[in-house]
Amino acid sequence: MQNEAKNNPYYSRTDRTTVNISNEEWKKILSPELYAVAREAATERAFTGKYNEFDELGEYFCAVCGNHLFRSTEKFSSSCGWPSFFEADKEGVYYKRDLTYGMDRVEVLCKRCDSHLGHVFDDGPKPTGLRYCMNSVSLEFVPDEQI
Ligand SMILES: [Zn+2]
Repeated sequence: MQNEAKNNPYYSRTDRTTVNISNEEWKKILSPELYAVAREAATERAFTGKYNEFDELGEYFCAVCGNHLFRSTEKFSSSCGWPSFFEADKEGVYYKRDLTYGMDRVEVLCKRCDSHLGHVFDDGPKPTGLRYCMNSVSLEFVPDEQI
């Protein structure tokens, strides 16, 4: 478990009940880096995230609430500077149209805690053709042997 999750009473990898917590409360629980991305839709700088160049086998969970988001076999090596996946756990994420910064994008959010994770683009590899461009700080990786 990341340090992050230790002081977070809402974190659970098994409880799928929706978490409805105010940003005021999240601010007390999350690190400033995670809060900025998850609750204010900030984007971490390209090529700085811990999972950008990372290819171990395991599962990726939401760093805010522990919801399952991705499997390592859905991750692919992309040159964009952020960890990229071609498929997401359908129970893990939902989508919102994002028209900020003069762009027309699709925002990816955690279904359980409503936190911002990143965006999805249609220039990914087969079989889906999708590229889930995620912030490392929003993800918590757990290797297979610890699942
Ligand atoms: Zn979450």
